[in-house]
Amino acid sequence: MSLVIVGSVAFDTIRTPWGDRERIVGGSGTYCSLAASFFTRPRVVGVVGRDFPRKTIAFLRSRGIDLAGLKVKAGKTFHWEGKYGNDPNLRTTLRTDLNVFADFRPEVPPAYRGSRIVYLANLNPEHHEFVLRQFRRPAVVAMDTIRLWIETKREALLRELGRSTIFFANDEEARLITGETNLILAGRALAGLGPSLVVLKKGEHGALVFGRDFVFGALAHPCEHVIDPTGAGDSFAGGFLGHLDRSRALTARDVRRAAVYGSVMASFAIEDFGIGRFLALDRDLVEARFRQFRRLTAF
Ligand code: AMP
Repeated sequence: MSLVIVGSVAFDTIRTPWGDRERIVGGSGTYCSLAASFFTRPRVVGVVGRDFPRKTIAFLRSRGIDLAGLKVKAGKTFHWEGKYGNDPNLRTTLRTDLNVFADFRPEVPPAYRGSRIVYLANLNPEHHEFVLRQFRRPAVVAMDTIRLWIETKREALLRELGRSTIFFANDEEARLITGETNLILAGRALAGLGPSLVVLKKGEHGALVFGRDFVFGALAHPCEHVIDPTGAGDSFAGGFLGHLDRSRALTARDVRRAAVYGSVMASFAIEDFGIGRFLALDRDLVEARFRQFRRLTAF
């Protein structure tokens, strides 16, 4: 089993109509690896400052996450601040302090180089080449992006899409990249740019997966109390890729199940602030929610 996640390990300050949290643990690499840890033993490449809590490092290790690729550097950990209104699908970034993340040149430990799946989470597309050439021959290169890179590094982003296998995007990103307002057309246009699988996340409305010869829709788990939507996208990717790593195949059946596991992990992430919900989660609860999904959608 070998899934490598390259992403941010961060402090987040979160403002929601239900309450605020200052400098709690977050980051795309953190959410993604935690979600994936219920399926496989993910490997993380990232950087934190010396202010990052040892307790969290110990927790990540206790979940079976391999942290050989997580560097601790002198300085402060990446800090992001975001605000949500009443619609959990809309958020505003109030502040981004890159800190030790500013000159992050992801170095892949030798033991990771033969890995099968590489996920580049939120990474500047200009840095993909530097990361990918450190791997021997990954079977799957997965990536996502953020508005910032679509607006400022479009050319590099399109180039990297051309060599990716799986691309995760939310509806806004898909529209910004393709110029298509209709999501089906946007999904197909993205698939035309290179990836064999395009996963379009639609927040509380679920996700659509576009393969070469199929389209699959997964509902989002109906959740009455969204506490903190941060990390939903990364947790979706973690569940999705974690399942694919465990199943060792990329058939349409695996991909469908991966999409449901993605929705399951995203649904847990939003039930508490930060990574709180993952502290009290186990495999049985994950499988129970997977079965609930099945009952919800079977007819
Ligand atoms: P998500 O809600 O899944 O889209 O991702 C939220 C996470 O992304 C937060 O925990 C942030 O720490 C992290 N994040 C926000 N902006 C950036 C950025 N520019 N680079 C890397 N990670 C970021």
